[in-house]
Amino acid sequence: MKRLVVLGGGESGVGTAILGKQKGYKVFVSDKGKINNTYKDVLEHFGIDWEEERHTEAEILNADLVMKSPGIPDTVPLVVKLMGKGVPVISEIEFASKYTDATIIGITGSNGKTTTTMLANHLLKKGGLHVGMAGNIGDSYAKMVAENDYSYYVLEISSFQLDGIIDFKPHIAVITNITPDHLDRYEDQFDNYIASKFRIAKNQTNEDYLIYDADDKVIREWLKAHPVQSKLMPFSLEKEVSEGAYLKNNEIVVKTQNKTITMATDTLALEGKHNLKNTMAAATAATLVDVRKEFIRESIKNFQGAAHRLEKVLKIHHVQYINDSKATNINATYYALDSMSSPTVWIVGGVDKGNDYRELMPLVREKVKAIVCLGLDNAKIKDAFGNVVDLLVETYAMEEAVKVAYKIAERGDNVLLSPACASFDLFDNYEDRGNQFKDAIKNL
Ligand code: ADP
Repeated sequence: MKRLVVLGGGESGVGTAILGKQKGYKVFVSDKGKINNTYKDVLEHFGIDWEEERHTEAEILNADLVMKSPGIPDTVPLVVKLMGKGVPVISEIEFASKYTDATIIGITGSNGKTTTTMLANHLLKKGGLHVGMAGNIGDSYAKMVAENDYSYYVLEISSFQLDGIIDFKPHIAVITNITPDHLDRYEDQFDNYIASKFRIAKNQTNEDYLIYDADDKVIREWLKAHPVQSKLMPFSLEKEVSEGAYLKNNEIVVKTQNKTITMATDTLALEGKHNLKNTMAAATAATLVDVRKEFIRESIKNFQGAAHRLEKVLKIHHVQYINDSKATNINATYYALDSMSSPTVWIVGGVDKGNDYRELMPLVREKVKAIVCLGLDNAKIKDAFGNVVDLLVETYAMEEAVKVAYKIAERGDNVLLSPACASFDLFDNYEDRGNQFKDAIKNL
């Protein structure tokens, strides 16, 4: 019996363990931290061996195959040792894909993965296809493969998952955009991070498709220097493309070899230029798997975006409150500010991952009437914008930030939480931050 060792007992680890056991592996799950009780129950239920708060090398180094959870860097000594011994160390998507013949749509990028994944899933489902959605979103992909027989998967894929692939090949790959993020895991080399994102296309052939943002210079230049086999399906807000998606007369045009679909942009449920791009990517993917145009047109109208992404919360005294807590980098906040059509009180701050706020300057000048800083250390924000806006207030708790914003905002304004920073100075995670925002608004 072959031995599969799973490092990390979270969603992807436990899912992999279940699938591995089903496929006849002797499975062992090892987690350096504590394993959540629900997951322990699942492992017990399936009769899978596990350990927590340690890695027992004697039980691990004898593996035939190792699945490493995306949170564990390649540089930890145990992983280095395994690689040194020639044991394949792979990710969940690599492992699970071996056991399904489904058509895979894999979606990666720096921003917009979740939105595009959910929208693509929505379009395929409304089109009547038997589709499962997984990856960094919801249930583990491996567990879905173990328990279902879907014909299509839409997968949200992080660069960490892509680092652990060997043969993984989506029929349709999407790269939404590439901006610097997570560089700590890539030796501070932007090129390493770009290369990691492009691994999504590395096993594709000329029968497969790569959908990407042609307005993104990083992607364009990388493709020029590192051509791929895949059929290219660019999307653009700036120019027409022969195959892919573009804007013409307030319509999105999606063109594939044998089909053209148009959709009026003013019928889109999701607002903002970035969501036009996400819609182009998802609609192109849906067109390539032959979802009928009526279904695509209809479905983009009623798609509700994910929580914490430009989520409209409430209107109070004609002031619109918008929760964009998921905006943890400059690029995401850029698009949030860009989509504001009235004067905006902007709540910003948290743990800065090396932001260059200058990129936001023109938008702040144009759209922002006041800044409410919400973070332990607001120095960089004060330096960048102190002289640009009329009013800048520092706060250290969500309730306080919302109260201050409420006082400043006038009829017709927006109050936007789009922090451009990670959340863990004052919150558990971005969901906690967004939920506290929504609660504070409801308590006004
Ligand atoms: P991801 O899963 O890649 O983090 P999300 O869909 O969760 O992406 O969106 C994360 C943040 O980025 C949100 O603030 C959202 O409004 C913003 N965003 C969504 N799509 C894009 C895009 N195409 N370009 C830039 N920012 C985007």
